Amino acid sequence: MFDGFRKETFEMRAMLFCTINDFPAYGNLSGYSVKGHHACPICEENTSYIQLKHGRKTVYTRHRCFLKPHHPYRRLKKAFNGSQEHENALIPLTGGKVFQWVEHLNTVFGKTQKKDKNNTCIWKNRSIFFDLPYWSGLDVRHCIDIMHVEKNVCDSVIGTLLNIQGKTKDGLNTCQDLADMGIRL
Ligand SMILES: [Zn+2]
Repeated sequence: MFDGFRKETFEMRAMLFCTINDFPAYGNLSGYSVKGHHACPICEENTSYIQLKHGRKTVYTRHRCFLKPHHPYRRLKKAFNGSQEHENALIPLTGGKVFQWVEHLNTVFGKTQKKDKNNTCIWKNRSIFFDLPYWSGLDVRHCIDIMHVEKNVCDSVIGTLLNIQGKTKDGLNTCQDLADMGIRL
C-alpha cells in the first residue's frame, strides 16, 4: 500500500474477523452438519430433538438452558412443554477444539461430489478458514445474521395468526402432534 501523506509504501495486512451469515451458510462455512438430529453446533451430540409423528419434522427442544440460571421461564411448565428446564447450556467450542475434530477430515469441496459416507462425525468438512494461521485462535468465528432468522420467524407467526393459506403452521398434523406430546388437548 502507498501512504499518500508520508509518500512511502508499507505492507498492509488484513484479517478475517468473523463471518455473518444465515444458518445453512453457517453449515457450509464452518463444516458442521446443520441438518439431522444433531443440528445445534453448541449442543452437538447432546442436541435435544423430537421427531414429530404426524408433521414428520425434526423439532429441536430444550432451549431454555441458554437462559440465565434463575430465569423465571425455566420454571414455567404450562407456557412451554409441560416440564421445567434447569440444565445449563454447554460452552461453545473454541476454534482450537474444532480444529482438533476436523484436522484429519478428508474435505471434498463442491456440491456435485459425493460426500464421504463412512464419515459419521458431525463435523463434515475442515473449513478452509483453518488455513488462516489465526483462525483456530478465534473464540467467535461465525455469526448468524439476525435478519434472516427474524424474517422467517415473523413470516411463520404472521402466517399462523392471520391464518394465511399455505403460510399457517396450524393444521391437523400440528394439533395431533401437540396432543401426542400432551401440550394442548
Ligand atoms: Zn443447542
